[in-house]
Amino acid sequence: MSTIFSKIIAGEIPCHKVAENESFFAFLDINPVAEGHTLVVPKQEIDYIFDVDDEMLGRMIQFAKTVARAIEKAVPCKRIGLAVIGLEVPHAHIHLIPIQQVSDLSFTKPKLTKTPEELARTAASIRAML
Ligand code: AMP
Repeated sequence: MSTIFSKIIAGEIPCHKVAENESFFAFLDINPVAEGHTLVVPKQEIDYIFDVDDEMLGRMIQFAKTVARAIEKAVPCKRIGLAVIGLEVPHAHIHLIPIQQVSDLSFTKPKLTKTPEELARTAASIRAML
């Protein structure tokens, strides 16, 4: 069975897309911990990030870097923090999160509530910086 991220990549489930190339896809997290919280996902369905082969993992980080550069131009922040968790969705992904301080990179504090319109605006601002 396809993962929810494969369904998003296939366009079967809507998302706020930020970027795409032949191998990777980036879209806003639906329950962001900060404005601009973006997920970077390989199109190939691989559960655990450390099962991604070295060559693809290198390209995934390079793709994430390009997306991070755009997020930091679109969303006021000190840096883009990077996290890998993977306990909820069994499809490897990198979280890119704008941060001002270390406590902003927290997955245990309450998530932001963003309307679809707000998420669409944020995604458009990030896309404009690519
Ligand atoms: P984890 O697998 O623990 O890294 O968490 C999965 C992340 O995917 C969470 O931050 C969710 O908010 C996010 N997520 C789950 N479903 C969707 C979706 N349909 N669109 C965007 N983000 C999602």
